[in-house]
Amino acid sequence: MPAALEISSLQKTYANGFEALKGIDLKVEEGDFYALLGPNGAGKSTTIGIVSSLVSKSGGKVRICGIDIDEDFSLAKKQIGIVPQEFNFNVFENVEDVLIHQAGYYGIPIGLARERAVYYLEKLGIADKQHVQMRMLSGGMKRRLMIARALIHEPRVLILDEPTAGVDIEMRRSMYEFLRETNEQGRTIILTTHYLEEAEMLCRNVAIINHGNIVTQGSIKDLLRGLNSETFLLDTQDALPPRIEVPGYALRQVEPQCLEVDLAKGQELAPIFTALSGAGVTVVSMRNKENRLERMFVNVLEGAS
Ligand code: ADP
Repeated sequence: MPAALEISSLQKTYANGFEALKGIDLKVEEGDFYALLGPNGAGKSTTIGIVSSLVSKSGGKVRICGIDIDEDFSLAKKQIGIVPQEFNFNVFENVEDVLIHQAGYYGIPIGLARERAVYYLEKLGIADKQHVQMRMLSGGMKRRLMIARALIHEPRVLILDEPTAGVDIEMRRSMYEFLRETNEQGRTIILTTHYLEEAEMLCRNVAIINHGNIVTQGSIKDLLRGLNSETFLLDTQDALPPRIEVPGYALRQVEPQCLEVDLAKGQELAPIFTALSGAGVTVVSMRNKENRLERMFVNVLEGAS
């Protein structure tokens, strides 16, 4: 079976001379749930833009379900549904018409288009908005409608560019559920994100992209295994005692009411809490000091050097 998406030596230099993609290779197998993960400006949207023909490439090859986009673009395009980052609707159209017009673009008969529209609106929890004008929808609803629109021609591959940008937590959860279900039904899903947690929660495989290069790719589990330690900051209600020691743990007092803790893989925070409460100190909040994605970059780059 051909890969759902195969990209080789993909390059993009924008008109101003900026090299956004420096020859990337990646392969997403059919049925996979895949993340293109990287910080802002890494080149994720440029990649998606090229795959969906919104951006012209400067070099390289893109195959969608085995079809080269340079050879049969319209057939390749039928295999994918794209959910772009920006809303691109006519605000005066109503919700159902948005879906029916999109279906018409793919030559889907009107009866079938209506059936699918109702099905996807229902699935995405916006069935009650079927006859409402676009301008009346909230941002989260528009985002879900974009997913319905991307699926109306039942593509084999669904590609989402930062799908949860600006979406609240509750809606994010239901969106995740929908995407998981769609993937379990056999559809390949590729998303871009700059949240490691999002990739971790949803995806099986991941490519990390930075400054227009693929830094690493593989299973998310293997990549996360590389994160050997984490640093937490514990804010306390009370001033910390001058010396606080817990055997086996590296602790640093960074402020009178803030303790920094290094946790090796498998170590728990519980003994620290116990020691602090034994010293009459209450912890009021806890935060992860570093961005784990940044840490993953550091690990990968150290491994590469
Ligand atoms: P990401 O989606 O990972 O945030 P993008 O693919 O949007 O990254 O952008 C990659 C880089 O290309 C960024 O540095 C961005 O500023 C630059 N870029 C994007 N679009 C253009 C453009 N039309 N002209 C020039 N540079 C661009």
